[in-house]
Amino acid sequence: MRVIVGSIPQPGLQVPLGLEVDWAVEAVNAVLESPPTALHGELLVQQAHGRRVEIHLTVCVTAPATCDRCGQLTERNVEVDIDLTYLPHLDEREAELELGADDMDIGWYRDGALQLADVVREALALELPSRTVCIDTEGCNARTEALLDEASQHGADNSVFAALRQLN
Ligand SMILES: [Zn+2]
Repeated sequence: MRVIVGSIPQPGLQVPLGLEVDWAVEAVNAVLESPPTALHGELLVQQAHGRRVEIHLTVCVTAPATCDRCGQLTERNVEVDIDLTYLPHLDEREAELELGADDMDIGWYRDGALQLADVVREALALELPSRTVCIDTEGCNARTEALLDEASQHGADNSVFAALRQLN
Protein backbone atom coordinates (compact mmCIF):
# COMPACT_ATOMS: atom_id res chain seq x y z
CA MET A 1 0.00 0.00 0.00
CA ARG A 2 1.43 3.31 -1.14
CA VAL A 3 0.78 6.40 0.98
CA ILE A 4 1.37 9.82 -0.52
CA VAL A 5 2.96 11.81 2.27
CA GLY A 6 1.23 15.09 1.37
CA SER A 7 -2.19 13.43 1.54
CA ILE A 8 -1.99 11.93 5.02
CA PRO A 9 -5.00 13.27 6.95
CA GLN A 10 -4.25 15.39 10.01
CA PRO A 11 -5.30 13.02 12.81
CA GLY A 12 -3.35 10.33 11.02
CA LEU A 13 -4.09 7.42 8.77
CA GLN A 14 -5.11 4.19 10.46
CA VAL A 15 -4.38 1.06 8.48
CA PRO A 16 -5.57 -2.25 9.91
CA LEU A 17 -3.43 -5.30 9.26
CA GLY A 18 -4.96 -8.73 8.89
CA LEU A 19 -4.96 -11.90 6.83
CA GLU A 20 -7.38 -10.22 4.40
CA VAL A 21 -4.81 -7.51 3.60
CA ASP A 22 -2.88 -8.98 0.68
CA TRP A 23 0.15 -6.70 0.77
CA ALA A 24 0.59 -7.30 4.51
CA VAL A 25 0.42 -11.07 4.03
CA GLU A 26 3.03 -10.77 1.27
CA ALA A 27 5.29 -8.66 3.51
CA VAL A 28 5.12 -11.27 6.29
CA ASN A 29 5.70 -14.07 3.80
CA ALA A 30 8.82 -12.32 2.52
CA VAL A 31 10.37 -12.07 6.00
CA LEU A 32 9.19 -15.31 7.61
CA GLU A 33 9.49 -17.33 4.41
CA SER A 34 6.09 -18.82 5.04
CA PRO A 35 2.54 -17.49 4.65
CA PRO A 36 1.13 -16.38 8.03
CA THR A 37 -1.63 -18.37 9.72
CA ALA A 38 -2.44 -15.42 11.97
CA LEU A 39 -1.88 -11.74 11.40
CA HIS A 40 -3.30 -8.79 13.19
CA GLY A 41 -2.21 -5.30 14.00
CA GLU A 42 -2.38 -1.75 12.89
CA LEU A 43 -0.33 1.02 11.40
CA LEU A 44 -0.90 4.58 12.48
CA VAL A 45 0.70 6.91 9.97
CA GLN A 46 1.03 10.55 10.97
CA GLN A 47 2.63 13.45 9.27
CA ALA A 48 4.72 15.42 11.74
CA HIS A 49 6.29 18.78 10.99
CA GLY A 50 7.56 19.20 7.47
CA ARG A 51 7.73 15.99 5.54
CA ARG A 52 8.62 13.92 8.54
CA VAL A 53 6.33 10.91 8.93
CA GLU A 54 5.82 9.15 12.25
CA ILE A 55 4.51 5.61 12.23
CA HIS A 56 3.35 3.53 15.13
CA LEU A 57 3.24 -0.11 14.15
CA THR A 58 1.80 -2.91 16.20
CA VAL A 59 1.64 -6.30 14.59
CA CYS A 60 1.45 -9.86 15.76
CA VAL A 61 2.07 -12.67 13.31
CA THR A 62 2.21 -16.44 13.41
CA ALA A 63 3.64 -18.52 10.62
CA PRO A 64 4.68 -22.15 10.28
CA ALA A 65 8.39 -22.79 10.64
CA THR A 66 10.76 -25.67 11.19
CA CYS A 67 12.44 -26.03 14.57
CA ASP A 68 16.19 -25.42 14.33
CA ARG A 69 16.85 -28.04 17.02
CA CYS A 70 14.61 -31.06 16.44
CA GLY A 71 13.37 -30.39 12.89
CA GLN A 72 9.73 -30.60 13.90
CA LEU A 73 7.20 -28.34 12.20
CA THR A 74 6.35 -25.61 14.64
CA GLU A 75 5.12 -22.05 14.65
CA ARG A 76 6.97 -18.82 14.78
CA ASN A 77 5.42 -15.86 16.53
CA VAL A 78 6.69 -12.37 16.00
CA GLU A 79 5.32 -9.37 17.84
CA VAL A 80 6.24 -5.85 16.91
CA ASP A 81 5.33 -2.68 18.76
CA ILE A 82 7.50 0.08 17.42
CA ASP A 83 7.65 3.79 16.65
CA LEU A 84 9.34 4.65 13.40
CA THR A 85 10.27 7.89 11.75
CA TYR A 86 10.56 8.38 8.02
CA LEU A 87 12.11 11.29 6.21
CA PRO A 88 12.37 12.12 2.53
CA HIS A 89 15.48 10.50 1.14
CA LEU A 90 16.87 13.55 -0.61
CA ASP A 91 16.99 15.51 2.62
CA GLU A 92 19.28 13.01 4.22
CA ARG A 93 22.02 15.44 5.15
CA GLU A 94 19.62 18.05 6.43
CA ALA A 95 17.75 15.41 8.41
CA GLU A 96 20.85 14.23 10.18
CA LEU A 97 21.21 17.66 11.70
CA GLU A 98 17.68 17.47 13.09
CA LEU A 99 18.05 14.05 14.62
CA GLY A 100 18.26 13.76 18.35
CA ALA A 101 19.52 10.90 20.45
CA ASP A 102 16.01 9.46 20.64
CA ASP A 103 15.70 9.02 16.90
CA MET A 104 16.98 5.50 16.65
CA ASP A 105 14.62 4.17 14.06
CA ILE A 106 14.86 6.35 11.02
CA GLY A 107 13.82 5.25 7.58
CA TRP A 108 13.78 7.06 4.28
CA TYR A 109 11.08 7.36 1.67
CA ARG A 110 11.44 8.32 -1.95
CA ASP A 111 9.31 10.26 -4.42
CA GLY A 112 7.03 11.66 -1.72
CA ALA A 113 5.44 8.34 -0.92
CA LEU A 114 5.81 5.55 1.60
CA GLN A 115 5.35 1.90 0.82
CA LEU A 116 3.69 0.45 3.90
CA ALA A 117 4.71 -3.07 2.87
CA ASP A 118 8.35 -1.98 3.18
CA VAL A 119 7.67 -0.51 6.61
CA VAL A 120 6.11 -3.76 7.85
CA ARG A 121 8.82 -5.88 6.24
CA GLU A 122 11.69 -3.90 7.76
CA ALA A 123 10.12 -3.82 11.22
CA LEU A 124 9.48 -7.59 11.17
CA ALA A 125 13.00 -8.31 9.98
CA LEU A 126 14.37 -6.34 12.94
CA GLU A 127 12.30 -8.32 15.45
CA LEU A 128 12.74 -11.72 13.92
CA PRO A 129 14.46 -14.11 16.32
CA SER A 130 17.62 -15.58 14.83
CA ARG A 131 16.63 -19.07 15.96
CA THR A 132 13.35 -20.93 15.74
CA VAL A 133 12.60 -23.51 18.40
CA CYS A 134 9.47 -25.43 19.35
CA ILE A 135 7.05 -23.76 21.72
CA ASP A 136 6.86 -26.97 23.81
CA THR A 137 10.40 -27.04 25.17
CA GLU A 138 9.99 -30.45 26.83
CA GLY A 139 8.81 -32.11 23.67
CA CYS A 140 11.57 -30.41 21.73
CA ASN A 141 14.20 -31.63 24.21
CA ALA A 142 12.88 -35.18 23.94
CA ARG A 143 12.89 -35.08 20.14
CA THR A 144 16.37 -33.57 20.03
CA GLU A 145 17.69 -36.24 22.42
CA ALA A 146 16.10 -38.96 20.32
CA LEU A 147 17.82 -37.55 17.25
CA LEU A 148 21.16 -37.46 19.03
CA ASP A 149 20.69 -41.02 20.33
CA GLU A 150 19.86 -42.26 16.89
CA ALA A 151 22.89 -40.54 15.44
CA SER A 152 25.24 -42.06 18.02
CA GLN A 153 23.71 -45.56 17.64
CA HIS A 154 24.21 -45.58 13.92
CA GLY A 155 27.78 -44.53 14.35
CA ALA A 156 29.90 -42.42 12.10
CA ASP A 157 29.27 -44.48 8.95
CA ASN A 158 25.62 -43.62 8.97
CA SER A 159 26.07 -39.98 9.76
CA VAL A 160 24.87 -37.10 7.68
CA PHE A 161 28.41 -36.76 6.40
CA ALA A 162 28.40 -40.31 5.11
CA ALA A 163 25.10 -39.62 3.37
CA LEU A 164 26.61 -36.54 1.82
CA ARG A 165 29.63 -38.51 0.63
CA GLN A 166 27.32 -41.00 -1.10
CA LEU A 167 25.83 -38.18 -3.11
CA ASN A 168 29.14 -37.53 -4.83
ZN1 LIG B 1 12.05 -28.50 18.39
